[in-house]
Amino acid sequence: MRIACPHCGLRDLQEFTYLGDASPSRPDGLAATESAMFDYVYLRENPRGLLEELWFHNAGCRAWLAVCRDTLTHTIQSVVPANKRKKGAAA
Ligand SMILES: [Zn+2]
Repeated sequence: MRIACPHCGLRDLQEFTYLGDASPSRPDGLAATESAMFDYVYLRENPRGLLEELWFHNAGCRAWLAVCRDTLTHTIQSVVPANKRKKGAAA
């Protein structure tokens, strides 16, 4: 699989680190319950189809990227810098 980094161009998967689903929002640290933090850290969906994911280009520009990928075919629909992503792009 190759990812078209918006800064570096088309690069091999080995240059990237996968974080996971981009949709969960981190609970407010001090006010969050233990249960809410557990859910945020450990409980993730594993959907079939389009999913917006976070990837880190560790062997390139070291930018966080929001990658919209079909988990069934690995087809990548879009790649944008994570700070420019629109929440719910895979919906
Ligand atoms: Zn890059």
